[in-house]
Amino acid sequence: MATIRFHGAAQQVTGSCHLIESPAVGKILLDCGIEQGGDDRELYEKQFDFNPQAIDAVILSHAHLDHSGMLPKLVRQGFHGIIYCTHATKALLEILLKDAVSIYLHDLERENIRRARQGDTPLCPIIEQTDVAKTMSLCQSIDYLEQVSIGKAGVLKFRDAGHILGSAIVELALTERGERKVLVFSGDLGNPDTVLMKPPAPVYHADVLMMESTYGDRDHRNYTSTCHQFAEILTKAKKQGGNVLIPSFAVGRTQELLFHLGCLYHKGELQGWQVFLDSPMAIAVTEVYDRWAELLDKNALHHLEKYNYSSLKEFLPILHLTPEPEQSMALNRIQSGAIIIAGSGMCTGGRIRQHFKHRLWRTDTTVLFVGFQARNSLGRLLVDGVKRIKLFGEQIAVKAQIETLGGFSAHAGKTQLIEWQQHFKNSPKTILVHGESNALESLAHSLYDQHQVKAFVPHQGEIFTF
Ligand SMILES: [Zn+2]
Ligand SMILES: [Zn+2]
Repeated sequence: MATIRFHGAAQQVTGSCHLIESPAVGKILLDCGIEQGGDDRELYEKQFDFNPQAIDAVILSHAHLDHSGMLPKLVRQGFHGIIYCTHATKALLEILLKDAVSIYLHDLERENIRRARQGDTPLCPIIEQTDVAKTMSLCQSIDYLEQVSIGKAGVLKFRDAGHILGSAIVELALTERGERKVLVFSGDLGNPDTVLMKPPAPVYHADVLMMESTYGDRDHRNYTSTCHQFAEILTKAKKQGGNVLIPSFAVGRTQELLFHLGCLYHKGELQGWQVFLDSPMAIAVTEVYDRWAELLDKNALHHLEKYNYSSLKEFLPILHLTPEPEQSMALNRIQSGAIIIAGSGMCTGGRIRQHFKHRLWRTDTTVLFVGFQARNSLGRLLVDGVKRIKLFGEQIAVKAQIETLGGFSAHAGKTQLIEWQQHFKNSPKTILVHGESNALESLAHSLYDQHQVKAFVPHQGEIFTF
């Protein structure tokens, strides 16, 4: 008998973390992600509901922090097994974890200065960069479709999930008393319409299927019309004579944006604009994308080659990289014609907040959201139309034009999720995770109405037996 206990991303999107227990493999953690949306410094305070030392191995679906961010804490608290992931995930993971820990340590340092002034004892760090180094040393990366034995009687295989570079659909086969059971975990499923990533690989057999439901309640806007809308927003912003701020996830979304901007540039539609990639992490990630370009969609590669360019960076000649803080600050002096792409994607940290401080109160600024905004995040507040925000202890009026582009999502939309689920030939027991309650409900209803699939929607801490 095997069990799955849902420790995170149950009835919510972030914090993906599920514990599988079976005599075939021992205790395996599927993802070990962080719950996003709150204060950066408090992210790591959440306690594990299990003993990290007792975990035998971790299977990591992809590098995004909502799937990987708690790994350094897991390692610090005694986990010393293997972390399985794809090669590209390993390359991205190192960048993401180092960055996340450095933001955390920076915030902690500031907090400790404040505490010292008040005569309070300083707080000890929950994690440090040495924990990231240890985490990386435990990673064993494998190819898509490579089969790896886990524990006494488990076999692991990754398939391309088409979500970000290296993202994987996890297939774990367990043999218990001669009976073979297959668990498939979708990880985050890509949007088949996006240009850089391949469509999520179809899977035809599973006994149990855990699938994500981020957009379980809606389809994305048509991709082609999103590209047109993107160009229109830039034209409108140009007329207003201001600048465009794009809060963007460093992994995936930024690279898709660079590709689209490159296409617009080559169509002659970016005259008078300069693009600034104002995120050391996004710059490093873009280099990884270029290094692993063979994993990208063939059509995108063909498009890049048509212009004799070998990398995303070269595809967009008006792109400027601003890794240094001084370069970032110098952007504040630009009056118009700048498209600034900065993190973090949900505006919970990163340089985008500095740009907000300098520009959010100006009517000639356009803020363009291109990705999912979790509940309680600053990004979500802005999308929901808040008129004033608090940043760095100051009240900032929101007078900028707030625009949202729904079609650039790196997640499958509702219809695409159902289509992917329907590839399975043997009606697996279907569990819905990684979605807010309305998305989960809506997807569960539609799966039943259209295909008589009775999906199970677990609560945090609940146990599923198979
Ligand atoms: Zn993801
Ligand atoms: Zn996710």
